[in-house]
Amino acid sequence: MPREPILHPEAALPVDEDRDLRPQRMRDMVGQRDVHERLGIAVDAASKRGEPLGHILLDGPPGLGKTTFATCIPRDMGVNVQIASGATLAAPKDLLPYLTNIEENSVLFIDEIHRMPKTVEEFLYPAMEDFRIDITLGEGVNARIINLQLKPFTLIGATTRTGLLSAPLRDRFQLREHLDFYSVEELSEIVTRNMRKLRVDFEGEAAGEIALRSRGTPRLANNRLRWVRDFALSRADGRVSTAIARSALDMLGIDHLGLDPQDRKYLETIARVFGGGPVGVEAVAHTLNLATDTLVDEVEPFLLRTELVVRTPRGRRLTTAAYDHLGILPPPPGEASNAGQRRMF
Ligand code: ADP
Repeated sequence: MPREPILHPEAALPVDEDRDLRPQRMRDMVGQRDVHERLGIAVDAASKRGEPLGHILLDGPPGLGKTTFATCIPRDMGVNVQIASGATLAAPKDLLPYLTNIEENSVLFIDEIHRMPKTVEEFLYPAMEDFRIDITLGEGVNARIINLQLKPFTLIGATTRTGLLSAPLRDRFQLREHLDFYSVEELSEIVTRNMRKLRVDFEGEAAGEIALRSRGTPRLANNRLRWVRDFALSRADGRVSTAIARSALDMLGIDHLGLDPQDRKYLETIARVFGGGPVGVEAVAHTLNLATDTLVDEVEPFLLRTELVVRTPRGRRLTTAAYDHLGILPPPPGEASNAGQRRMF
C-alpha cells in the first residue's frame, strides 16, 4: 500500500533528517546553473499562463538535488505537491489516491520512477497526456471501463537510471534534466551556508576541506558537515577549524579525494582479485557482497567521473590514477586482463 498522499510541501518529507538544510526555494539552491535556468523559465512561463508546468524528468546519481528541485518548484509556483516512490507503486490502484487527490496545477513527484512496474507506467500515460485515467471495474464479460477526468497537473519524475525507463514513458516528459556532480567551489558554498544555518563557529578553510572530501555531492557534504560539527563539540571546544575538519574526516576513513572505505575496497578488489580489470560489474558486486544496483548507482558514478575507473565493452578497468591513489603498482601490460579471466572461471 502506498503512503497516504501528502499535500503540503512543508509536511511532505516527514523523516527528512536534512529538512533544516534543504533549500526551500529554487533561488536558495547552489549550482546546477543551466538546469536551474531552464526550469526557472518553464516555471515562470507556466505561472504567467496559469497553466500546469510540463512534466519534468530529473535524473542523476543520488544526493544531487532531484528531490530538492521537485519540492522547490511547487513552492515557487505556490502549488501543492504529493510525493510517491516508484518502489511502492506496485499496481495501478496504488496510484489512484494520488491521482484523485490532485489539485489544479499541483505537482505529483514520483521518486525512483524507474522502479514502477510496466502496468503502472501504462496506467500513467493517459493521465500524463490527457489528464484522464481508465479504470476497469469488474472482470471478464462484466468488465466495464470508466474514464475519470483528472485536474491538470505536473508529474515530476526522478531517477538514478534513465536507462531503465521505457522510451514511451521518457518521451512523455516535456523537460528532461540531468543533474551532475557539483564543483568543490559550489559544495564549499553549500557547506558555508549550512554551517551558518546550524550556527556552527567555523574557520573559512574548513568548509573547503569538507567540500573537497564530499565527492561532488551535497547530501554527503551535509552528512560530513554534521559529523565534523559533532566531532568538534566532543573532541574540542565546538569550533570547526581546518585541522579539526581533517581529523574528523580522517577518522571516518574519508581521504583527500572524498573516497570512503567502500570506494577504496571497490578499487582494491578490482586491482587485487581481477588484476585491474576489465571485469564485469556483477563479478565485483558478488565479491564485495553488495547489490549490483548499489555499485552502479552509488559507488561507480563518482569513480567514473574522477577517471579512477573506466567502463570498457569488456567491463570495468582501473586507470593509472587509481593505482596512484591506492599507492600500488599497476600490473605489467598484458597481464591485467588475463589475471581477471583466470579468476573469473
Ligand atoms: P536526490 O533527490 O537527488 O537524491 P536531494 O534533493 O534529496 O537529492 O538532496 C540531498 C540534500 O542535499 C538536500 O537535502 C539538500 O540539503 C542538499 N542539496 C541538494 N541540492 C542542493 C543545492 N543545489 N543547493 C544546496 N543544497 C542542496
